[in-house]
Amino acid sequence: MAKILIPTPLRQFTGKQDSVTVAGDTVGSALANLTAQFPDLRKQIFNDEGKVRSFVNVYLNDEDIRYLSKTDTPVKDGDAISLVPSIAGGSALVGSALAGPPEKAAPPEEVTLSDEATLTKEEILRYSRHLIIPEVGIEGQQKLKAAKVLLIGAGGLGAPLGLYLAAAGVGRIGLVDFDVVDFTNLQRQVIHSTADVGRNKIDSAAEKMKGINPNVTVVKHEVALTSENALDILKDYDVVVDGTDNFPTRYLVNDACVLLGKPNVYGSIFRFEGQATVFAYQGGPCYRCLYPEPPPPGLVPSCAEGGVLGILPGTIGLIQATETVKLILGIGELLVGRLLLYDALGMRFRELKLRKNPECPICGDHRTITKLIDYHQFCGVPSPNQAPAAQETKVNEGEIGVIELKEKLDRGDKFVLIDVREPHEYKICNIPGAKLIPLGEFPRHVGEFNRDDDIVIHCRSGMRSAKACNVLRAAGFEHVRNVVGGILAWSDQVDPSVPKY
Ligand SMILES: [Zn+2]
Repeated sequence: MAKILIPTPLRQFTGKQDSVTVAGDTVGSALANLTAQFPDLRKQIFNDEGKVRSFVNVYLNDEDIRYLSKTDTPVKDGDAISLVPSIAGGSALVGSALAGPPEKAAPPEEVTLSDEATLTKEEILRYSRHLIIPEVGIEGQQKLKAAKVLLIGAGGLGAPLGLYLAAAGVGRIGLVDFDVVDFTNLQRQVIHSTADVGRNKIDSAAEKMKGINPNVTVVKHEVALTSENALDILKDYDVVVDGTDNFPTRYLVNDACVLLGKPNVYGSIFRFEGQATVFAYQGGPCYRCLYPEPPPPGLVPSCAEGGVLGILPGTIGLIQATETVKLILGIGELLVGRLLLYDALGMRFRELKLRKNPECPICGDHRTITKLIDYHQFCGVPSPNQAPAAQETKVNEGEIGVIELKEKLDRGDKFVLIDVREPHEYKICNIPGAKLIPLGEFPRHVGEFNRDDDIVIHCRSGMRSAKACNVLRAAGFEHVRNVVGGILAWSDQVDPSVPKY
């Protein structure tokens, strides 16, 4: 018998259970028994050839099975198998995607700090609680003052990072962000206040950081991080801290850090769970060693789609801030070669071994990536210049606009309207007449539909309902349409009394 720990994103396929005990002599047979019990989980874990997907890592206790005997690894009673899928969460930041200048992989090197950074009398008083710790002292505080740290993203993770690194006296802090403060950001992005809604995040964040510590130089990079500008922006910093929420930027930051030999302090969040580690430090493993490939687009929901506990980015961001300060001071044991998993609901930290993959395409023995690539293409998502504007409702074949849906309802047309959101979302708002079938349960309900039915499916923004439409189309249904923009568009264009979330 083995206990399989199910991470939050996959619990929708296990009837919300966080662990499942199954029979099995090997990891492979245990997983086969698991997916026999929960068939919807199968395609999340295995590809069409029956191999474990590369964006899901499987651990037996604290060891990655890729470095044991893969799925043939024997399992004993009392062993725990962990499924660790890649999660993106952080702040919204989208890079565009053009190939950058050719660049050779630089050998990873130690963080170099310019030596003299003498402290003023005011600074000695300000940092007195640091100065009296023997591990920091005047010398350590001078290292902090001389340090140059780049924060990618001024959102959920960037908020605590910016505030605490400024307070701690990191001399030069760069911010990369081009987003504006949205009302829904305030639940977690504590560097921004209600009065900042509508302002550029970078200005709002820089103002707070300067307010806490005027000695700090905040460098604003108000751009989307792209393959063209990433190396140029990152090269002037000692440490890069990744607080992004999307896979193209994650891979871009990773590759740029490996190519430049900069440590990449990583954090990601989803609902109640977070991950943190330090990649690419002194030849240590990188993000691609952990997750060679991104998940297919749409499989892993973003914070906007999946939600996040407001405090969670605080916890993970502060772990990143702690590692950043330790890196600069050269003290303690860094999260290198260790992936820290945090479960806020269970209030548990777990640690998994993170190994350098000799076959890693960017930091392994046979490197195939020697310059930045097109990360949107790599992740299979449209680049921002290709993506349609949010407000613009362009209705393609197989889709229906909210205005047309309203007319259909008003006319009393005979059709089936399905809402594939979760019950707790349905309680926030709904379109009258819609039947609720959450996406995770949707495949089991296909038999309930009639092939002649005129079927219209909606969700919050149109992403999940597009998947539900594809499930029906794959089952031979022809009259299926996705509501463009979901209930958000309904609120914008049909009924403003419907709350947006
Ligand atoms: Zn690697």
